[in-house]
Amino acid sequence: MKKKSTSAKQVYGLADLQDWSKATQDVDPPIRLGVFGDPVAHSLSPQMQNAALKHCKIDMQYVRFQISPGELREALKLIRDLKFVGVNLTVPHKIAALKLVDDLDESAQSIGAVNAVKINPPRVGGDGLVGANNGKLRGLNSDGKGFARAIREEFVVDLRDLRVMILGAGGAARAIAMQCAKENCERLVIANRTFENGKKLADELRDFFAGPRVLGPVARLQAIAWDEAAFRFQIGNVDLIVNATPLGLNRSDPSPIPARLLAPHLMVYDTIYSERRTPFVSAAVEAGARGANGLSMLLHQGALAFEIWFGREAPLDVMRAAL
Ligand code: NDP
Repeated sequence: MKKKSTSAKQVYGLADLQDWSKATQDVDPPIRLGVFGDPVAHSLSPQMQNAALKHCKIDMQYVRFQISPGELREALKLIRDLKFVGVNLTVPHKIAALKLVDDLDESAQSIGAVNAVKINPPRVGGDGLVGANNGKLRGLNSDGKGFARAIREEFVVDLRDLRVMILGAGGAARAIAMQCAKENCERLVIANRTFENGKKLADELRDFFAGPRVLGPVARLQAIAWDEAAFRFQIGNVDLIVNATPLGLNRSDPSPIPARLLAPHLMVYDTIYSERRTPFVSAAVEAGARGANGLSMLLHQGALAFEIWFGREAPLDVMRAAL
């Protein structure tokens, strides 16, 4: 007789993980992946990852988990015991998770944040003993590489050929700045509302920019104040401006840099993703520049996580269509 199946809930919580067999009774295919966040209801990852799982005929599904900061430790422990494949982490868990996983790959270490966790599958040796890595949680970060792929896709250019200005110095900005540094971009300018935070990030990247590259009077690596005069001066000396602040999440938010300061030679990338144009992308278009929003970064960081979880290529077109 065919098994009766019920569909997964929109959002699960810690209480569900604590009583998982009851919470997922008859849910089919089984839930083995998800995203932990607070808030999490807006996350587009399930639609993208579930499309990939279905396409690859992997019999499992990916759901949202509303997990508060105080619940993260226990939630990670529970998914290990429940034999999950992995999870994504979003606001506000990316930094806290650094201390809650068993080890970190190079990307998570250098960025200083975790956006995905892989749980090593149990491996039982011929002697019946369980391998040392059984069930270990490995933290990684695919935001930086996802960003680089997004820029290549949107503007057909590599970071190493660009003079980049990043707005923000939080988690997303750190991942993007580190990727620009590793790929030896021509110039990096960090503009942040709280100057000290931008300066601290620039100082951490100093070694990557020790060599000469750009001819002319401008520094290869610079933290600048968040003000109009500083933006105006930099715009003639950068090619790509990236918004890595939450400005634009709300419909009423202003563009982080007004259209009158932007110029047609610029590429503008807004890490915020939405179906409508973000205020920053609208300002870019108004100024005759090219603009793209963060859907492509979301897609590529998700595809990279899928590849790490399953050790196979992600079906990028299927995931893109699902978004
Ligand atoms: P964080 O909270 O870590 O950092 C926020 C940054 O924005 C800080 O530098 C902060 O400056 C600055 N900021 C906050 N509010 C304002 C404001 N009103 N005006 C100017 N600057 C402000 O957030 P994240 O880095 O995690 O996320 C930033 C954005 O990136 C989010 O909106 C998210 O949507 C997007 N994102 C997109 C991804 C994608 O795949 N497309 C992936 C990850 C994030 P200060 O130091 O002064 O506090």
